[in-house]
Amino acid sequence: MIFLLFGPPGAGKGTQSAKLVKEKGMVHVSTGDLFRNAIKNETELGKKAKSLMDAGNLVPDDITIALVEETLKDLQGKDVILDGFPRTTVQAEGLEKILEKMDRKLEQALFIDVDENKLLQRLTGRRVCSNCGASYHVEFHPTKAEGVCDLCGGDVKQRKDDTEAAIKTRLQTYKENTLPLIDYYKTKGIYSAISGEGSTDEVYGRILQQLSVE
Ligand code: ADP
Ligand code: ADP
Ligand code: ZN
Repeated sequence: MIFLLFGPPGAGKGTQSAKLVKEKGMVHVSTGDLFRNAIKNETELGKKAKSLMDAGNLVPDDITIALVEETLKDLQGKDVILDGFPRTTVQAEGLEKILEKMDRKLEQALFIDVDENKLLQRLTGRRVCSNCGASYHVEFHPTKAEGVCDLCGGDVKQRKDDTEAAIKTRLQTYKENTLPLIDYYKTKGIYSAISGEGSTDEVYGRILQQLSVE
């Protein structure tokens, strides 16, 4: 199975994906995480992505599509969660071509819906492990020890793009570029939506139900 979790920044895509990985053995493909790793490792890709990401703008489609193609090649036969890709209609078309070549197809595009005020609260309070990428929240999901990842002991910090200015840009970019994917996937007949509000476990239950995963 291969499916897409999409929705606004802060909807809980990363948090829910981590649960699906841990409990269902799925593979999580997050373009945001891939770009952040490239930046950490100071690769060519990282150099291209850094300033765009820090400001809350999208990395160009061609670069992003090529990165996903490389990543998916190694995941033939695995259950894959796509998180944060596609984010534009051009990327959605790119994904179809990639999957066609692999003789696979996207089964579901599941939208996680969260009210904008709640998104702002989630994004401004988000803290992320700089080693393993685990997502925390100062209020809703604090680390046991201040600034230390519960899972790996890594440094837990605020993302550079979780500042007020970058969040504003990301929400605008999301509305312009990513929201049109709702109609795109409706037309393809694979769209569904759940509410991303309530506890992490409540949202997780809705996702399992929607995916018909036991
Ligand atoms: P969020 O938590 O806001 O959903 P992500 O971690 O998915 O953020 O993405 C962080 C940033 O990485 C984006 O703002 C963008 O700069 C870049 N990025 C991630 N995925 C994509 C993509 N599919 N296309 C272009 N840029 C992307
Ligand atoms: P996304 O990957 O969609 O950008 P994250 O999974 O990183 O979102 O979640 C954004 C922030 O909201 C994080 O700080 C996370 O701990 C918190 N969060 C995620 N799900 C919930 C929830 N159901 N209730 C409250 N806070 C949540
Ligand atoms: Zn960690």
